[in-house]
Amino acid sequence: MAEKVMPFDEAITKFDPVIGLEVHVELGTKTKMFCGCSTEFGAAPNTHVCPVCLGLPGALPALNEIGVESAIRIGLALNCQIATWCRFARKNYFYPDMPKNFQTSQYDEPICFEGFLDVEVDTDEGRKTFRIDIERAHMEEDTGKNSHMGGATGRIHGADYSLVDYNRAGIPLIEIVTKPITGAGKYAPEVAKAYVAALRDILRNLGVSDVKMEQGSLRCDVNLSLRDTPESELGTRSETKNVNSLRSVERAVRYEITRQAARLTDGERVVQETRHWHEDTGVTTSGRSKSDAEDYRYFPEPDLLPIAPDPAWVEKLRSELPENPAIRRSRLAAEWGISDFDMQSLVNSDALDLVEASIAAGVDSAAARKWWTGELARLANEEEVELSELAITHQHLVDIEHLISTGALNDKLARQAIEGVLAGEGSIAEVVAKRGLAVVSDDGPLLAAIDEALAADPSIAEKIQSGKLQAAGAVVGAVMKATRGQADAARVRELLFERLGVSE
Ligand code: ADP
Ligand code: MG
Ligand code: ZN
Repeated sequence: MAEKVMPFDEAITKFDPVIGLEVHVELGTKTKMFCGCSTEFGAAPNTHVCPVCLGLPGALPALNEIGVESAIRIGLALNCQIATWCRFARKNYFYPDMPKNFQTSQYDEPICFEGFLDVEVDTDEGRKTFRIDIERAHMEEDTGKNSHMGGATGRIHGADYSLVDYNRAGIPLIEIVTKPITGAGKYAPEVAKAYVAALRDILRNLGVSDVKMEQGSLRCDVNLSLRDTPESELGTRSETKNVNSLRSVERAVRYEITRQAARLTDGERVVQETRHWHEDTGVTTSGRSKSDAEDYRYFPEPDLLPIAPDPAWVEKLRSELPENPAIRRSRLAAEWGISDFDMQSLVNSDALDLVEASIAAGVDSAAARKWWTGELARLANEEEVELSELAITHQHLVDIEHLISTGALNDKLARQAIEGVLAGEGSIAEVVAKRGLAVVSDDGPLLAAIDEALAADPSIAEKIQSGKLQAAGAVVGAVMKATRGQADAARVRELLFERLGVSE
């Protein structure tokens, strides 16, 4: 049964929300964290397994160096301190997707700690920066995957039997945990979403993960509590598991605020528990109670050496970090003289890198943006490929822009040339030659086509001569058609007005 909720606007006037976000990111290493098994997604079940990740007796783990390097790079990008010495710990619990009966994780000695990430959110007072403090980022391993078969819901209740696939067991994970996020007030849902989005951006930019939320390589748990005022002690939190899209992060925070507010107003307590997010209905339901604080019997992992990253190595990794994506965006927006809004639409259409590369290759910045977000976006959409997969190189755009600037091609012909390239007809020069694409700049054929258009509809000349200059559009259109798009439209207008003795 659906739980009682209070309208969001009312809830937010009565309570102050506090958020805590735990993000698990699956690293894109070729092999698992403690063995040489492949991490490739989508293989036949239980084909990427070995004695180590199956937890067979006597098997010994060996640490993946790239896993450690990725963890450090993530920590550095999140302004964290990097431990000079830390260890793995065993988190003991029994579950069928975890054949060792413990997860190799980190406990009180995380490799990265005390960082922060600034995120921007639109507020009533304009765009505002919220600083999210990061408590820790630690290394651990993923579990296998259970599939519950035969039931209607895919959950264990009502299933006939369950299957388990250990291909994912042992894939490196980094868990990034925020401190309690306070001060967001009514913007809490947007702040939570902006944080996960900014984090995803950074991780993608580092190249450490493919950060696909829908495939589970980035997973988010949303903790939320309410308190009476920003001065009150923290309230009891719920922890909503596996909220697997940015939009769901925002919705889950919003829903929990409305649910907890209703409970507290009715004089009931918020139960400390894990909850499940339901994408379809937009509600959370009670999962496992956490009130008796689980005891995982953590202890230092005896089969792995402590990790003491050489400070020189850490500094080298720091110096090689890519530019922070938010900073890069504002730098480029300033360079190109475009608004935040235009920059956001470049990002949303996955065109930013392409535009930057085209400009670097010599294309004018406005032209590069126009091509990648206009005609090329349309063609990619038509061919159902990613923009970056389109068989158009930056040199093609350099060539086409050169022909436009010398007046050899107009926009329409340029688009035909690009189409020719995509159809495999060769380089821009070859397509232009083969298709005979050229602006007709010789006045003779243009005048002939103008006369023909005027003769076909004498009312046009009258309209133009009586001052209705917009009637010229019909003639320009007709001349374009007659010359198969090869006329220079501006020249056609000029000639037309001359012919009729009208000045613009
Ligand atoms: P657990 O092991 O229970 O998941 P963690 O410490 O890993 O606990 O993560 C808990 C998350 O919830 C952290 O992001 C933490 O900052 C946040 N948190 C802790 N207390 C509260 C609270 N009262 N309200 C909201 N978030 C909280
Ligand atoms: Mg946790
Ligand atoms: Zn293995």
